[in-house]
Amino acid sequence: MTQVGVNGYGTIGKRVADAVAAQPDMDLVGVAKTRPNFEAETAARKGYPLYAAIPERMDQFAEAGLDLAGEVEDLVADSDVVVDCTPSGIGAENRSLYAEHDTPAIFQGGEDADVAEVSFNARANFEDAVGANSARVVSCNTTGLSRILAPLDETYGVEKARVTLVRRGGDPGQTGRGPIDDILPDPVTIPSHHGPDVNTIFPDLDIDTLGMKVPATLMHTHSVNVTLESSPDADEVRDLFADETRLFLIPSGADIDGSGKLKEFAHDAGRPRGDLWENCIWSESLTVEDRDLYLFQAIHQESDVVPENVDAVRALRGDDDAAESRATTEESMGIGIDY
Ligand code: NAD
Repeated sequence: MTQVGVNGYGTIGKRVADAVAAQPDMDLVGVAKTRPNFEAETAARKGYPLYAAIPERMDQFAEAGLDLAGEVEDLVADSDVVVDCTPSGIGAENRSLYAEHDTPAIFQGGEDADVAEVSFNARANFEDAVGANSARVVSCNTTGLSRILAPLDETYGVEKARVTLVRRGGDPGQTGRGPIDDILPDPVTIPSHHGPDVNTIFPDLDIDTLGMKVPATLMHTHSVNVTLESSPDADEVRDLFADETRLFLIPSGADIDGSGKLKEFAHDAGRPRGDLWENCIWSESLTVEDRDLYLFQAIHQESDVVPENVDAVRALRGDDDAAESRATTEESMGIGIDY
């Protein structure tokens, strides 16, 4: 059993902790928290050992009635792999802590690419991370793009990708984020950082990305145009995507017209926290004109990277069977929508 610690128990960390706890080949050593807030209380209620991310604050946990298993250093020492889920920039600061204990580490997409030996997507480049000492699971948007670009490139060849990303202003819990009543080109310069980030997974891919930010919290929406090297018909591409377990083709009769109904669907389906780990592609939008493929997809920013983190743990441990890792992750989490 691989012993896994999760440092940072916020939006991504709490989901990664649940996913790790569900794996047949992993034990969750515990989670590190900075403060004894409601998320710390939730972790304790789930029986996850709590570690103080800031040792000087250990008293605060005692005052809140929360038992600690130790401080973050103990968590790192007792783990075979640490998944760092701290806010952007803190992961890079934590690198020395993981190195001191010789504990392989997984970082998140908010970190610069050079934080780790390899940028990782389970579908596109699992093999690159096998046996590495560190990996960065790319951002939610890059994960969503990698999952469609990998099968398209393998099957038809990709000449050029152009993507406009309409991005949620903040996560539901991020009360301080905006915009509140605005539509922002973000960044106003082109390309947005997403294209170069996709190139950390597909170094030779020609891709331009444009970003916009809107007053929404539920999901991101991508408008995708990929010029292929051959010209399949749209149904062939639908069949190709139907074989990809982390892609969900929204059926035309489902009456799902946006991210609000997608989230409603996820809640109705009993998904934890209403999570949608799969890319949600509107089947009707999938169109091919000559060699140009078009589609709309929605990406649940809070959850699509979670299975990728689980697969990254196996890759760092030297497990080189990408397909088996993905299947184990999916079965244990309940990934794959059979509509
Ligand atoms: P978050 O703010 O929701 O959670 C981060 C948690 O880490 C918080 O609980 C915070 O208190 C804690 N923390 C702060 N400093 C810490 C420290 N020194 N040690 C331990 N814990 C500490 O952030 P998030 O949205 O979960 O993002 C985490 C990472 O995942 C970032 O790199 C982000 O870019 C990336 N990411 C976020 C999303 C998203 O949409 N939320 C999607 C994909 C990737």
